[in-house]
Amino acid sequence: SKVPPIILNNGVEMPQLGFGVWQVPDDEAERAVATALESGYRSIDTAALYANEEGTGKAINGSGVPRKDVFVTTKLGNGDQGYDATLRAFDTSLGKLGLDYVDLYLIHWPLPAKDKYVDTYKAFEKLLSDGLVRSIGVSNFLPEHLERLADATSVIPAVNQIELHPHLQQHAAREFHAEQGIATEAWSPLGQGKGLLEVPAIVAIAQKHNRTPAQVVLRWHLQLGNVVIPKSVTPSRIKENIEVFDFVLDTEDLAAISALNEDRRIGPDPATFGG
Ligand code: NAD
Repeated sequence: SKVPPIILNNGVEMPQLGFGVWQVPDDEAERAVATALESGYRSIDTAALYANEEGTGKAINGSGVPRKDVFVTTKLGNGDQGYDATLRAFDTSLGKLGLDYVDLYLIHWPLPAKDKYVDTYKAFEKLLSDGLVRSIGVSNFLPEHLERLADATSVIPAVNQIELHPHLQQHAAREFHAEQGIATEAWSPLGQGKGLLEVPAIVAIAQKHNRTPAQVVLRWHLQLGNVVIPKSVTPSRIKENIEVFDFVLDTEDLAAISALNEDRRIGPDPATFGG
């Protein structure tokens, strides 16, 4: 494969770069995921909430790529937290995807005010021991939520998928994850393409390497050790976003991008979201 893997804390290999399908309607998702698989992507990130598990699954099953060579992530919808509801929702996701297992199942948001993520995670542990998922993890969990899980459950999450891009670099979370053996996966790695790709420092680095700003930002993530899942429905951009393994940012480039941190979220704050 074009994309090197990282090794999760349970020994499972996950491609360091994958394809995200948030906000892609079901019928378009089939086409976009098919293009991604043709372009060499071997990891796909969907969610029950994205309402495109069917199209995503059709593309995977119709791609001709062996199932074992594709790393499929989906996420539990926020309305389905709780032990029994989780097991039912997982079954629904698997049916929509048309698969008999997923590679990574994530709790989409902690929803601390609902206080159900511990029971939810216990259902995830059952799915893991039943062999229906190869790895379990979380998304949008703050260190305090991870600590609570560590106290109340036995499997350390393989992954925490969080908002992360040059304007929100998440230093404390990344350090905490590294200490715990949790892989950091960056959502909205391109900052949703809004503004970030026009920042002069990034444009200058792109010109220096004869690359695009998107490629520079993705390369920055990879060199930091993040897993990235950029999204696009434009075939040329889908291809562009995976052509990031044949150049290297130097120390000066990395420092210039690291200087862009503003601790500024695009998405909701996990401490209050769903409260
Ligand atoms: P992103 O940072 O990947 O940006 C995508 C947008 O950037 C595209 O819609 C397009 O406008 C632009 N873009 C993409 N490639 C480009 C290129 N080469 N040149 C110029 N512009 C380009 O944003 P995202 O979709 O929010 O995040 C990626 C994935 O992360 C999602 O699809 C989803 O799978 C996941 N995600 C997860 C959560 C969560 O709560 N767990 C939240 C948001 C996103």
